[in-house]
Amino acid sequence: MGHILLAARAKVNLTLDILGRRPDGYHEIESLMQSVDLADTVRISHGGPGIEILSDSPDVPADSTNLAAKAALALATSCGARLGARIQIRKRIPVAAGLAGGSADAAATLLGLNELWGLGLTTGQLVEIGARVGADVPFCLTGGTAVARGKGELIEQLPPLEGVWFVIVVPRIKVSTADVYRQFDDLPTTRRSSTARATDSIWAGDIEGLAKALGNSLEAVTARRNPEIARIKEILLARGALGSVMSGSGPAVVGLVRSRDSALRICKEISSSQIAGAFATGARVFVCSTATAGVRVEERECAGRGEELAWWVR
Ligand code: ATP
Repeated sequence: MGHILLAARAKVNLTLDILGRRPDGYHEIESLMQSVDLADTVRISHGGPGIEILSDSPDVPADSTNLAAKAALALATSCGARLGARIQIRKRIPVAAGLAGGSADAAATLLGLNELWGLGLTTGQLVEIGARVGADVPFCLTGGTAVARGKGELIEQLPPLEGVWFVIVVPRIKVSTADVYRQFDDLPTTRRSSTARATDSIWAGDIEGLAKALGNSLEAVTARRNPEIARIKEILLARGALGSVMSGSGPAVVGLVRSRDSALRICKEISSSQIAGAFATGARVFVCSTATAGVRVEERECAGRGEELAWWVR
């Protein structure tokens, strides 16, 4: 095989409960996660020596600190392989938004290289390696609808969530995940758990119940410094979303709706300059459906050098 092309999908946290701090410094979480059809494209071909990263986004590092490079190195190390690769990333998932774009690229890299290098590792083995790269990588490898526990590495798959669409609003504010967790630790503990109720609603196929159960322990922290978060939620709910919640450490805010038409209508309305100006100039708005997997292989091909170069301009 010359190259493999993968869709690396974003995730949203429909719930995120922080249960405590672990002795290893990580937080113990319980989170209902959902893959959505907003995806980066990751193209992996033979290359080297070493791992080469190319990206069309100035916001992601093109060196060994890129999560895709870290995943490739972790995989090579765990297999004792001394193989190279060229990894090209076309970014569509907003960076540092709480949508796990970096983890999605890492997951796609693990799945893609497992095939390209002919390693034959199981998903379980890839999940173990992925957990060392980032807390969201295990979910991104399996994806769909699932509850993540531990620091994110213990995945319980749920039935696919159907008949639901999301409007995702990403305001142009910078949020550091590490800072948000640090500030959360300093807050007086008001532990709230949403995951059990949300999970029950999924098993019961009760979308209204799910919409009411959405919740994120980190939201109060990010919203305290960024009033846009509460404002976006208000706007989404006022325009007909059944429920709304911040994803991850933010700043992306998700509105849950029942149909594609409602999602498109809300997207159109809040993209109008008047309303966008009310919460943040330059906020990006996406309409997404649910996806049943985190990574999808789009193409496997024997490719020549000409085809490889042409990929960027396609
Ligand atoms: P987290 O909640 O895990 O911090 P996030 O979803 O909020 O993740 P990402 O888009 O994964 O945010 O980016 C987080 C950081 O990781 C950014 O500072 C970015 O520069 C860095 N990064 C490294 N590799 C990548 C990648 N392939 N795609 C996006 N960001 C990457």
